[in-house]
Amino acid sequence: MDAFENLKNEIDAQNVELIAVSKTNPNERITDLYDKGQRAFGENRVQELLDKQEQLPKNIEWHFIGHLQRNKVKYIVPFVDLIHSIDSLKLLKEVDKQAKKIDRKVNVLLQMHIATEDSKFGLDKQELIEILEYYTAAPSPFKNISIRGLMGMATFTEDKKQVRKEFRSLKDLFEFSKSSYVLHDAFKEISMGMSGDYSIAIEEGSTMIRIGSMLFGSRA
Ligand SMILES: *Cc1c(COP(=O)(O)O)cnc(C)c1O
Repeated sequence: MDAFENLKNEIDAQNVELIAVSKTNPNERITDLYDKGQRAFGENRVQELLDKQEQLPKNIEWHFIGHLQRNKVKYIVPFVDLIHSIDSLKLLKEVDKQAKKIDRKVNVLLQMHIATEDSKFGLDKQELIEILEYYTAAPSPFKNISIRGLMGMATFTEDKKQVRKEFRSLKDLFEFSKSSYVLHDAFKEISMGMSGDYSIAIEEGSTMIRIGSMLFGSRA
């Protein structure tokens, strides 16, 4: 069995969704996995995503997982399945505005800063609170977005205890959100875990893992 089938077997029993992170990989590699039944693919650059979306089967579910600039939101809003990387209220407002123009409801996750590195994007708890307060205000100012949960990336380290602690902190923020705000049932996703740390992430409550190099080989 190949890496894809092994991974599917491993996670299927655990109710975790696999996002195949296809960034930098050519269409043929995506088609290989598509032919084996994979439908959810993740990209982190807008232009690359637009090219692939145009060229590949229309029933692929595209996940945007990279840092998103506000002026590029309008290009992906018409088709994106889930934006994992909302890291400011301003960005969220822009997604709502662009989605309203085309009368679509767009699914998003809020990206939390859980790693020790400062280089990684994401919200702190105070910013999360601000967004959830805004989102759950009545009447809601957002009619065209649906917040589906949280996303986070652990520190890139061999220290498994550290990684586990960070994933646990994301799970805690998720539980905090659910218990402090009246959120719809669709607020249920925790996107955490990559090739090097997905097993720990699943143990700590991940519902979606984002796997690139393990499926496609290491990137140039
Ligand atoms: C590239 C990337 C991944 C996949 O990383 P791998 O280590 O190749 O599995 C997951 N999440 C984000 C946000 C990424 O940019």
